[in-house]
Amino acid sequence: MSKKVIVIGAGGVGNVVVKKCAMNPQFFSEVVLASRTLSKCDAIALEAKNIGLPIEIKTRRVDADSVPELIQLFTEEKPYMVINVALPYQDLTIMDACLATGVHYLDTANYEPKDEAKFEYSWQWAYQERFKEAGLMALLGCGFDPGVTGVYTAYANKHYFDEMHYLDIIDCNAGDHGKAFATNFNPEINIREITQKGKYWENGQWVEIDAMSIHKPIEYPNIGPKESYLLYHEELESLTKNFPSLKRARFWMTFGQAYLTHLEVLQNVGMTSIQPIKFNGMDIVPLEFLKAVLPEPGTLGENYSGQTSIGCQIKGLKDGQDTTYYVYNNCHHAECYKEVQAQGVSYTTGVPAMIGASLMIQGEWMKPGVYNVEEFNPDPFMEMLNIHGLPWHELHNITLPHEY
Ligand code: NDP
Repeated sequence: MSKKVIVIGAGGVGNVVVKKCAMNPQFFSEVVLASRTLSKCDAIALEAKNIGLPIEIKTRRVDADSVPELIQLFTEEKPYMVINVALPYQDLTIMDACLATGVHYLDTANYEPKDEAKFEYSWQWAYQERFKEAGLMALLGCGFDPGVTGVYTAYANKHYFDEMHYLDIIDCNAGDHGKAFATNFNPEINIREITQKGKYWENGQWVEIDAMSIHKPIEYPNIGPKESYLLYHEELESLTKNFPSLKRARFWMTFGQAYLTHLEVLQNVGMTSIQPIKFNGMDIVPLEFLKAVLPEPGTLGENYSGQTSIGCQIKGLKDGQDTTYYVYNNCHHAECYKEVQAQGVSYTTGVPAMIGASLMIQGEWMKPGVYNVEEFNPDPFMEMLNIHGLPWHELHNITLPHEY
C-alpha cells in the first residue's frame, strides 16, 4: 500500500528526499514539498517533472517555526507522515503539529535550541508517552549519520557479535566542489557542530575534549589516508544507550586543510558566534549572516568530483573469540548529481530518509512511540540501501585500519 507524505525543507536534503519518494510510487501515493520559500519548492518540483519522475510533486509554503501554520497544512493535506528535513530548530514544532493532527514523524537531525549550540535527544525522547498515547510513531535521526550508522551497528550486533565493545564511526568526504569555502549541509548547523567541544564515550562516561584537538590519519577504502578529527556526533548518545556493552564509542570526520584554515580565521574574527551583535541599529547573529553569504548546500552538486566514505568499525566478541567488522558505503558526488541533481552529502542523507519512511508506510518499522533507527530490525533497511543507491560492503576479521 502506498501513502501520502509531506516533506518539509526545500534544501539540499529535501531535494533528494522528494525525488527519491517521487521515483517510488509503490511506497508513496502523493508527495508534497513544503518550505519557507515556495520558489525553492517549485524549482525542485519542476526538475522532478523534467527528469520524468512518475509522481508529480505538489508544493506548499509553510513556516515550520509556527505550530498553527503546520497544523493548518497537515489538516488540509492529510498526509500519513511528515519527513522533516528543515533545520533541527523546527523538530519540536513539527512533532507538536503531528500530535495535534494524527501524523507520523521522521527526521534526520536532533533538536537544537537556536540560542545554544547543544544537541541531545532529551527534548525529543520526552515526547515518548505522548506519541505512544496518540498511536503515532516518530523515527529520529534517519539520515546517514545519524541513520545508516545506527542501522549498520544494529546489523553488526544482530548478525556478527555476541558483545560489541568498541565502535568507531568514520566519515570521510574526499570530494572537491571547487569553492574556496562551503559546507556540505546547512552551514549554520555544520559550523555549530564542529566548533563545539568534542566528546566520546569510554567506560560508562563521556570524555570531553577541546574542539578538533584529537586527530589522526585514517585509511578509507578506495580513497586512502585522510586526516580525521574526533567530534561529538548525536548517534553516539542513542547507540551507547541502546548497546550498553559498548566500552567505547567515537566519531571521526575528515576535514581538508583549506577548510580548517578558513574556519579558524572566521572563528578568530568572531564570524561563527551565535551571540547577537548590534549592526546599524539592528540585532544580527554573525553565524546567520555568514550562512547568508556562503553557497547553499543544494547548489554544490554541479561539477562536484570525488566521493564520500562512511562506515562503522566494530570490535567485540563472537563465540568467545575477538572479532572485528567494518561496514561502509562509498558514494560518488557526480553520480548523485546525474541521478537527482544533488551532491553526495545531501544524497547520503536523503536516501535513508526515504527508506525509513517507506518502511514505516509498509508497517515493517511501525510502532507507536519515539525511536532511534537502531531499535528496529536492520535487515529490510540494509536490503533497501543496496536497491536505492547506497550499496554497502563489509569486511570481517581484518586488522582494522584504525588501531584500538
Ligand atoms: P539546507 O540549508 O540546504 O536546507 C534547509 C531547508 O530548510 C531550507 O530550504 C530552508 O528554507 C528550510 N527551512 C529553514 N527554516 C525553516 C522554517 N522555519 N520553515 C520551513 N522551512 C525552513 O540544509 P540541508 O538540506 O543540507 O539539511 C537539512 C537537514 O538535514 C538539517 O537539519 C541537517 O542537520 C540534516 N542533515 C542530516 C544529516 C545526516 O546524515 N543525518 C547529514 C546532513 C544534513 P529557506 O531556504 O527558505 O530558509
